Amino acid sequence: MLYTKFANFLKTYKIVLLQIKKGCSLKLNYKDVLIPPKITNIDSRSKVNLESKKKFKFSRNNWEGIPVIASNMDYVGTFETARALQKNKILTAISKYYSDSEWVKAVASGVDINYSFITFGLENPNKILDKIHSIEDLTNQTFKLVMFDIANGYIIKYHNMINEIRKQRKDLILAAGNVVTKEGVKAISEAGSDLVKIGIGSGSVCDTSTVTGIGYPQFSAVYECSDEAVNLGVKIIADGGIRSSGDIVKSFVAGADFVMLGSLLAGHEQGGSPLKEINGKKHRQYYGMSSEQAMSIHEGKKKSYRASEGSVKWIEDKGDVNRTIEEILGGLRSACTYLNVSNIDGINKDIDYITVK
Ligand code: 5GP
Repeated sequence: MLYTKFANFLKTYKIVLLQIKKGCSLKLNYKDVLIPPKITNIDSRSKVNLESKKKFKFSRNNWEGIPVIASNMDYVGTFETARALQKNKILTAISKYYSDSEWVKAVASGVDINYSFITFGLENPNKILDKIHSIEDLTNQTFKLVMFDIANGYIIKYHNMINEIRKQRKDLILAAGNVVTKEGVKAISEAGSDLVKIGIGSGSVCDTSTVTGIGYPQFSAVYECSDEAVNLGVKIIADGGIRSSGDIVKSFVAGADFVMLGSLLAGHEQGGSPLKEINGKKHRQYYGMSSEQAMSIHEGKKKSYRASEGSVKWIEDKGDVNRTIEEILGGLRSACTYLNVSNIDGINKDIDYITVK
């Protein structure tokens, strides 16, 4: 008995030592941290400015606005969402499934490409450039930002694709992901991306960690990747796992330059999901873009060699997205007053956080 206890103790001790040696400290999610308040000069939320000015490593385009991005997911990254969010200078990553003519119609009816941008997966670089040029010709406007988005941002072919686009379009702000480690940030930034998107396994409709065991707790992923991004002169987008305005604040404290929201902006009129009555209440659909549902909508059906890495949810209808945005921005302003910063850029890695159980 005593021997077993001693043997178990030795085993745990060995594991802890091994972790310390490997630099494997405990990794954190947003729910594991809180931010203590500070003595403050800001006596009203109306004195807070949420707009930020960003410059980039490769592109000479600057960007100004609130550093929040609606995700390029079905029922979130729509032109209707973009039209609502651009009023507050918030960005929308437009779903890659829109055609050139839909883009042309959207731009003609007021979608502002300073706040909306086109997204692509892993494709032939020439096809990507053709689509960009075609929309630019037809709208007589030039994109400012283009995003590449695949679940596994560690694929070398993907880095080569980004690099090819960078060589052809030095003007564009390029964003690409997703990765969760310093090695990933380095690979994406060396390919020529100005912005690296961080998050694997943390999305609310993401099953990657369950299906594959791959992932990284999001607060730590953002924290560690932002160190590397600063070293390399690029910026990062924290993508996935944000359930409230408080989590947005925590991601800025972890070092995010932008945050990307899926579920928080899902379930609204502007997303365009069909309505379904569940227990007498209206609901809207939200699903992962690697779910069987998404694959069957966009590709006819799930390919047999692929596992579904996303789930489907019905969430209660939240109505107009403008109301949710007001709530989110109110939360960010309140955080700024607690932290004695008059501009959103003041919420950054200089702010202390504590870990909670
Ligand atoms: P949320 O804000 O809902 O927590 O997370 C949104 C993010 O989840 C998206 O921006 C995207 O990066 C990620 N995501 C979207 N669909 C899927 C999916 O089907 N599988 C996985 N693994 N991630 C997804």
